[in-house]
This record gives sequence, C-alpha cells and structure tokens, in this order.
Amino acid sequence: MAIVVLHLVPPIRVLLQRCWQWLERGGLPAVCGLQSPLWGLVPALQAPVCLPEPAAGTAGSGEGPRLLGSVVWMAAPKKRRSIEVNRCRRRNPSRLIPVKRNIDVCPECGNLKLKHILCGHCYAKVKAETQQIRKEMGKKEGGPFNAPTVETAVLYDGEKPTEKDEGKRIVERARKRPSWFSQN
Ligand SMILES: [Zn+2]
Repeated sequence: MAIVVLHLVPPIRVLLQRCWQWLERGGLPAVCGLQSPLWGLVPALQAPVCLPEPAAGTAGSGEGPRLLGSVVWMAAPKKRRSIEVNRCRRRNPSRLIPVKRNIDVCPECGNLKLKHILCGHCYAKVKAETQQIRKEMGKKEGGPFNAPTVETAVLYDGEKPTEKDEGKRIVERARKRPSWFSQN
C-alpha cells in the first residue's frame, strides 16, 4: 500500500525521505531545544524504579512513602542460634558476677563486713561518740581556736584521773566505757 502511494505521489516520497534524513541527523533537538521523543523514552521508563512504591493493600495514596521512611534497615541473622549455644554464651563464667570470698564477721558487733575495710556499724558508733566528746571539749575550751590547746583525757563511769592525767583537760562521759576505746 505504501509502495503504491510512493509511486503515485512523488512529492510525498521526497518529503518523507528528507524528513527521515533530518531525523537521522538529529535535527529536532537542535531546532526546538527539546529532547527527541525516541531518546526521551529511556528516563521515562527508568524513573518509577527509583521512586518508592506504595505498599500493597494500602488504600491511601500518601501512605507508601511515609511508611517506608519509618523503616530502619538493620542486619538480620542468617541462621538460628540454638538454645544450647545461647545459654553457653549467657552463662559463661566471664559474664557472671564473681563470688566474694573476702567477707568476714565483725568481732565487735557481729555484722558482716569486708575483711580489708572498717565495719560500717562500728564506725557509726565511734563517730557519734567522738562528736559528743568534741562538743564537751568545745564547751570547756570556749576560745576562738578550732583545735584544742590543751591535751584532753576522757573519763567514763567509775574512772578516776590518774597521775598521767595531771595538767590535762578532763572530759567526763556519763556512760560505760566502750570496748573499742582504750583508756591509754
Ligand atoms: Zn562492727
């Protein structure tokens, strides 16, 4: 049919030949500044691959990119670890809390304490008694000095000053002498 048309109408055949040569030279982009329709198909076909596709089953058109944007891609394990392997890892002796073997009983009060440190209960008692003695010393001192200027002897119930206590300031405490506070 086309051969018949070309034979019958020579001006149309010449026009088609010129148009084909012009297209082969790439004349269309040079003339109108646009891309040729043949070359413009390539990015148009590749573009949807790069864009995020909506999840299947979502009715709203705007749900797809928002849902995909909230997904955090993380490394996934490729094989299942058996429960034996997991327990061996979790209960490894290097991961367990070590057993303390330096715990001892306080000889004074009987509470448990570490061997290398003072007993906390006994220390609190010593601290309270020392504060009471310091208060008495402060009352007798009455001066501007923070440190006592005279040596002090502490006497408890049933104790009397000896020769060593001559010239010392004497603080009397109305209680029995504690076992941890030696007289000398
Ligand atoms: Zn103690």
